[in-house]
Amino acid sequence: MSIRKKVLAANWKLNLAKEGIGEFSRGIRQRQDGDIELVVAPPFPYLRDLVVESSGEGRPFTVAAQNCSDEESGAFTGEVAPGMIAGVGARYVIVGHSERRTLFGETDEMIGRKLDRARAAGLVPIFCIGESEELRDQGKTLETLRRQIDAALSTAGGDFGWLIVAYEPVWAIGTGKNATPEEVRGAHQAIEGFVAPHLAGGAFSVLYGGSVKPSNAAELASIDEVDGFLVGGASLAVDTCLGIYDPMRG
Ligand code: PEP
Repeated sequence: MSIRKKVLAANWKLNLAKEGIGEFSRGIRQRQDGDIELVVAPPFPYLRDLVVESSGEGRPFTVAAQNCSDEESGAFTGEVAPGMIAGVGARYVIVGHSERRTLFGETDEMIGRKLDRARAAGLVPIFCIGESEELRDQGKTLETLRRQIDAALSTAGGDFGWLIVAYEPVWAIGTGKNATPEEVRGAHQAIEGFVAPHLAGGAFSVLYGGSVKPSNAAELASIDEVDGFLVGGASLAVDTCLGIYDPMRG
């Protein structure tokens, strides 16, 4: 079942110095009204700092990791287990971002194992899917989304309680190019149909990502099938982050 819970997820990638965290959280704290879940995904070393910044009165945001291991423990140098991420107080984890797929060789099956591990650790996964420009040009967008969903979710199996799916056309990430509202609506409707049979009735939300910024957020946010955004570049500064957040309030 798709649920219309609004989420704005900020993916800081390999950016932002630790000193920027206080300014960011102060700016967000002044504006947050609780209707929209703002999720911040910093580099691993800042996870705990963000959890501490976000605690206390009026919890301004929740915290996500940008990746996790598909193993829970063992001789896997450099890996971070979902249980460790949950242990520092993060609630979400981004899984299968296109940069992980293309730059670090993550397969659909590995992503499925990560989803399974993340769920077992009590994290809500933000499961990223999206077609390359080449596949889009071949008219294979929906076929690609279906394949990514089927492969990962049949590996992971079962109910997630709540799963967030992020539709991120690869050609739109960090490029300034956007899918049109019609393309976004069509893809999100298809994704709902592809995901639902895997989840045994569990709830899910579908976010859009790819060069979302204050100037296009209102139009994209007005699409019924869009439950929020996963944002990279524009999430690094409080002003642009709030410039996307505000139109989501409707
Ligand atoms: C992303 O990396 O998930 C993303 C959507 O980046 P950007 O907003 O910069 O396109």
